[in-house]
Amino acid sequence: MNSERVAGDLRRLDVGAVSLNEPLARHTSFRIGGPASVYVQPGTKEDLVRTLDWVEGQSLPYFVLGQGTNVLVSDQGIDAVVISTSRALRYVEARGQTLVAGAGVLLTKLAHKAQQASLGGMEFAVSIPGTLGGALVMNAGAHGSEMRDVVWEMVIWQPKAGLRALAPEEAEFSYRRSAFMTHAWIAVEATMHLDPKDPPAILESMRHHMAYRKKTQPVGDPNAGSIFKNPEGDYAGRLIEALGAKGWYVGDAEVSAAHANFIVNRGHATAHDVLSLMRRLRSAVFARYAVQLRPEVRWIGPGEGGFEATWENLWCEAGEGLQGPCG
Ligand SMILES: Cc1cc2nc3c(=O)[nH]c(=O)nc-3n(C[C@H](O)[C@H](O)[C@H](O)COP(=O)(O)OP(=O)(O)OC[C@H]3O[C@@H](n4cnc5c(N)ncnc54)[C@H](O)[C@@H]3O)c2cc1C
Repeated sequence: MNSERVAGDLRRLDVGAVSLNEPLARHTSFRIGGPASVYVQPGTKEDLVRTLDWVEGQSLPYFVLGQGTNVLVSDQGIDAVVISTSRALRYVEARGQTLVAGAGVLLTKLAHKAQQASLGGMEFAVSIPGTLGGALVMNAGAHGSEMRDVVWEMVIWQPKAGLRALAPEEAEFSYRRSAFMTHAWIAVEATMHLDPKDPPAILESMRHHMAYRKKTQPVGDPNAGSIFKNPEGDYAGRLIEALGAKGWYVGDAEVSAAHANFIVNRGHATAHDVLSLMRRLRSAVFARYAVQLRPEVRWIGPGEGGFEATWENLWCEAGEGLQGPCG
């Protein structure tokens, strides 16, 4: 990609702030990741749509980033246009029993907005640190609830079609999965349908969730939340802890002492360190329990499948004593 030319064209389109070779470590909760060739922060919803239409029309590789709390970005960075939703889509409004919000709104903000509007159902989201867009892609959840329980309707951007409504059934939400992962859809807006509830009761349950999180998860060290999904009927954290793996490390990447399914960056961890540690954990869990752990964190980097390589490629390429089939 000719990044200088692309950045120049985007600046002429006047869609928002554009930078070259932007270190993605600045935009991920892991504080890990090499540079994006071109990084754009559209200023409004219209700017976002114009940016997407343009990069798609030019057949450029692109990638939308929310708050960067569920990604591991390659140390080499990515030769693509990275489009951030953090400026363009930060609106939220209560309408009757619903909240209508842009995909760049933080889940914490949504939970508080619902509480102010005497609407219950969003409390689970108060302690999840990403954006609404990332939460739709991941079907994010906590404390027994997830996004699919509250989403009523979405607006997405789709290549060639532009903006269109998307019904929850089409999104095929399941445990930390959605059809966003297999379609080139960009979440732009969502409407959440909630239930009337007493604000003090909502506040009480949000406080409870926050306190629980502080007690059970690492606070302070950069991380990306749960590294692996829970296998059917069990917990990834339980299996890793039972191995005695808390404290295992590669470089500055370390299995958290507070929660075994979290890897923390002790200062200068690289994506390579995190990947090596993940492979080690995965092999050890497979060797002891014959369970294949699947990553929850999304890998963004070069690989066979383009810059969003599948984890399967990474495991197979590494071949570091992994038993069982790749994947
Ligand atoms: C301390 C900590 C605790 C966490 N706890 C939880 C938890 O309890 N439950 C839980 O489910 N998750 C948890 N997470 C993970 C994470 O916060 C969620 O998955 C969150 O929803 C991701 O949102 P994001 O904006 O950061 O997405 P990003 O990390 O920016 O992106 C994640 C994926 O979504 C895509 N994406 C982002 N925005 C859009 C968009 N608008 N349209 C299309 N694709 C988009 C990206 O391309 C990427 O593939 C935690 C993370 C941390 C760091």
